[in-house]
Amino acid sequence: MDVFFLGTGAGMPAKLRNVTSIALKLLEERGSVWLFDAGEATQHQILHTSIKPRRIEKIFVTHLHGDHIYGLPGLLSSRSFQGGETEVTVYGPKGIRDFLQISLSISQTYLKYPLKVVEIEEGIVFEDEQFSVEARLLDHGIMSYGYRVAEKDRPGTLLADKLKEAGVQPGPIFKKIKDGETVTLEDGRVIEPNEFLGPAQKGRVVTILGDTRFCENAIFLAKGADLLVHEATFAKGEDQLASDYFHSTTHQAAEVAKQAEAKQLCLTHISSRYDRHAWRELVKEAAEIFPNTDIAEDFKEINIPLKGEKHLP
Ligand SMILES: [Zn+2]
Ligand SMILES: [Zn+2]
Repeated sequence: MDVFFLGTGAGMPAKLRNVTSIALKLLEERGSVWLFDAGEATQHQILHTSIKPRRIEKIFVTHLHGDHIYGLPGLLSSRSFQGGETEVTVYGPKGIRDFLQISLSISQTYLKYPLKVVEIEEGIVFEDEQFSVEARLLDHGIMSYGYRVAEKDRPGTLLADKLKEAGVQPGPIFKKIKDGETVTLEDGRVIEPNEFLGPAQKGRVVTILGDTRFCENAIFLAKGADLLVHEATFAKGEDQLASDYFHSTTHQAAEVAKQAEAKQLCLTHISSRYDRHAWRELVKEAAEIFPNTDIAEDFKEINIPLKGEKHLP
């Protein structure tokens, strides 16, 4: 599980930072990549990486400002020519369907794969046996969502040898025990699954927010997250500017991470008014409030390691 920054600038493309797009690489977990936003030229950025567009399974759009969506039609179109045959689902605020339908139909773009568009509301927007994704509205003047991606705890491996020693033969019973069911054997003995399963693997949490002012829902989504990706368009002290444009300062982003007790914060959506030298200052500012802070750069990757092993209760 890796977070890979394809674009990290605010508003419009700049030489050092393209507009927003973030890839959540789930290659080991499910052989796929999830994208969060696709600003203009996201597909050009992808060309410089090992990411395969055909691997893109889901695209979560935070909001409909151009710097977050102008790259979508081109990316979806090119995916057809790059061996993409599997379904792609795009999640986003109301309006995302019209945007895609109109861009693709007027340009007479025919995709060779199924495209599903889900206009979301607050709540769980996706869930399977591996992950859940929860969305909440932020404070950005336009509908802007934050997403909390939570990996589910993985049950421990079945201790087959121990079961055989206990006289249980492989078969459907093994599956039940693996699924955490308590099983009563024919001879009346009760098999508690915990005694025959290895340590459980705690799931990881990554929170990726759209543009926003400081808000409670950001803290809610980032609760205990292993990584919080938060915009920091402006430096500390620019509260008025941040408020006027519905954005956050470094201090505000750090305050969210602190209150949410996140493990790590990465700042992104950095205004082009700040140069390389200033980036270091931005990190320092945030670290005054939340020490484990980093700043995103285009093509930076952050690995989210598996957590220490923990036994199921
Ligand atoms: Zn933006
Ligand atoms: Zn915006």
